[in-house]
Amino acid sequence: MAFIQVAVPVPLRQLFTYTHDNALSAGVRVVVPFGPRKLVGVVVETLHKPESDIENSNKLKAIESVLDDSPIIDGVLLKMAQWLWQYYHHAPGEVLHAMLPVLLRKGESAAPTPQDMLMLTEEGKQTTADTLSRAPKQQACFTAMAGGALLASQARKQYGAPAVKALVEKSLISIEEVAPEFKSGSWLASLSVSEKPIPDTEQSVAIAALNRQQGNFAVSLLEGVTGSGKTEVYLQAIEPLLRDGKQVLILVPEIGLTPQTVSRFEKRFGIAVGVLHSQLSDKERLQVWQRAKAGELGIIIGTRSAIFTPLHNPGMLIVDEEHDESFKQQDGLRYHARDLAAMRAKQHNIPLLLGSATPALETLNNALSGRYAHLQLTKRAGGAKSTHQHVLDARDQPIHYGISQGLLTIMRQHINAGNQVLVFVNRRGYAPALLCHHCGETVMCKRCDRPYTVHKAQNRLQCHHCGGMRSMPSNCEACHHNELVTAGTGTEQVEQGLASLFPGVKQVRIDSDTVRGKDKLHQTLDAINRQEYQLLVGTQILSKGHHFPHVTLVAVLDCDGALFSADFRAPEKLAQLVTQLAGRAGRASKPGEMWLQTHNPHHPLLQDLVHNGYGHFARHALMERKAAGLPPFISQFVIRAEATDSSLAYRFLQDSKQVFLQQHAIELNGPFPCLIEKRQGRFRFMLVCSHEKRAPLHNALRLALPFLQALPQAMKVRWSIDIDPTDF
Ligand code: ADP
Ligand code: ZN
Repeated sequence: MAFIQVAVPVPLRQLFTYTHDNALSAGVRVVVPFGPRKLVGVVVETLHKPESDIENSNKLKAIESVLDDSPIIDGVLLKMAQWLWQYYHHAPGEVLHAMLPVLLRKGESAAPTPQDMLMLTEEGKQTTADTLSRAPKQQACFTAMAGGALLASQARKQYGAPAVKALVEKSLISIEEVAPEFKSGSWLASLSVSEKPIPDTEQSVAIAALNRQQGNFAVSLLEGVTGSGKTEVYLQAIEPLLRDGKQVLILVPEIGLTPQTVSRFEKRFGIAVGVLHSQLSDKERLQVWQRAKAGELGIIIGTRSAIFTPLHNPGMLIVDEEHDESFKQQDGLRYHARDLAAMRAKQHNIPLLLGSATPALETLNNALSGRYAHLQLTKRAGGAKSTHQHVLDARDQPIHYGISQGLLTIMRQHINAGNQVLVFVNRRGYAPALLCHHCGETVMCKRCDRPYTVHKAQNRLQCHHCGGMRSMPSNCEACHHNELVTAGTGTEQVEQGLASLFPGVKQVRIDSDTVRGKDKLHQTLDAINRQEYQLLVGTQILSKGHHFPHVTLVAVLDCDGALFSADFRAPEKLAQLVTQLAGRAGRASKPGEMWLQTHNPHHPLLQDLVHNGYGHFARHALMERKAAGLPPFISQFVIRAEATDSSLAYRFLQDSKQVFLQQHAIELNGPFPCLIEKRQGRFRFMLVCSHEKRAPLHNALRLALPFLQALPQAMKVRWSIDIDPTDF
């Protein structure tokens, strides 16, 4: 009898031992009894110990069934899983579940499911591709089949349905429902590199450096302003890898995963790209997983969780827009995909490339200290000028719908010249608060203790923290007066204001209220570039992934909030946002300008950013972080606790603090209320734990955890641990 350690998907930080007739390979799924339930777990290890060394060996339960013949989680991914549960102090079973496609978590077969496949007929096997020279699409499809059967859906997408149909009609191929046989490197048959620009000097240096790293672990930061040709560097750097049959995994922010991004890679190499994002069905997700695992996909582009995609023959990992906050998971297993990518690249012994116009301070620090190679692109490709940035002093000016008189004048010039103007507003809705003109009472969401946001078009109030809605009141609840007024400005109000300030000018608003779903967003963004609109109003969405060549003015309505935030990362986030926004605008023949409207025109952060750019700001901010003893110069984790009874959550953290005080000299701050103090009726507190060095900090946590779990409030409050938090 063998004793098997299994990661079972329950929120407990331990593995469970089961018995089985024989040893099992790590990475195989098994069904195990757990209390009254049957759960799908993953084998982590077969214990090679005599029965006498196993605790309670006579009480152990047997594995019910084994789901896989061979491991579905390979050695590197299993190491990654172990690293994840140790580093993030998370339950092993939950870690392994997070790494698997949903269907595999549910116990479905990992073998490829039968699908429509294009197969060569006997006649097809006797025919050479030159006979199709008058039908290039058919020829390309036919040629690609030399590498083996093709997925029908993929072939239709790549070569067009008519070409596939024609080949069937010519009896050269047939369509059959079979389980696809994925072959490693099968893209080599269709790999053909289309015309590419000649890299400039900086690009050449970067590409050469990346080529030299092949087959070895190295991390590089590619710091390049928007439009400087970073993507072109990715394309040229991965070309030799693809030719070698090696796979490349590219992580992008959710919103950056546009059809344009994917087609740029497909067009360059003429091969299918595997795409992984949140809107795929479980089945589609599993298919990409299978193809990547078999080595059948040369390029896989995906969002955060794509870092768990198995690879047969990896050549390189790339994280594009590596500063983007979407790479950090903010609930459950709170991992950072960028850190995980570094860990994974090391395990595979391959290079990792991090690209950004506005690198995270953590990454920049690693590059400046020499841990990462630092590659820089300082000029926009194709001669486009960078956007000029200015501060607009809004003090003492008349303000119309959040827009100062001075800014209006500038906007009018750009509109009259026939150009597009982008107005950035950091809040959606009409106004962030509704209050009584008589007594000043604000209408609050009782579950979150935060003002409701006014949504005028729907004639409703909405809480942006819990999503709660209510109808628009007509009287003040405190004094019953009937004059309620709005405070502050949101996108809806700016849109309304601009309609009256610029009558007849076509306008579009882009925020999560107006564009729901990826398709609607991409359609709207394309319409903007067809110049169907002249005025664009929107939120953060506008700062990501899309270029607006006809925009010559970017107006940021309010930067003051971020200047005085309690979050020490707020300046970094503001600087990234502003710089990314500036990068969206202009092209060679139409340079752009940007105006930041503020009541603090002399604020050093704004001045530095406007005059010296993000690179300078970031290096300065790093010095400040060092002086203040903040990350990345120290390590941190936070324990958060929330409960409907605020004293319960607070006491849990107070007692947790005592646990830490008893053992180690780590720095403890708090408990304080979180930046969002109350959400959905629960009060939220946090305890911030820091130490100069990571190891002692993590050690202290490991030792403390059993005691925290045993605290009297541990079962009554919702609490969680966030390692290297990016958000408070
Ligand atoms: P980034 O990823 O930094 O935003 P891109 O790679 O998308 O930059 O490049 C911006 C534009 O410049 C693209 O249209 C790209 O094709 C073009 N481009 C990039 N490098 C060159 C080059 N060396 N010569 C000419 N055009 C280039
Ligand atoms: Zn609320």
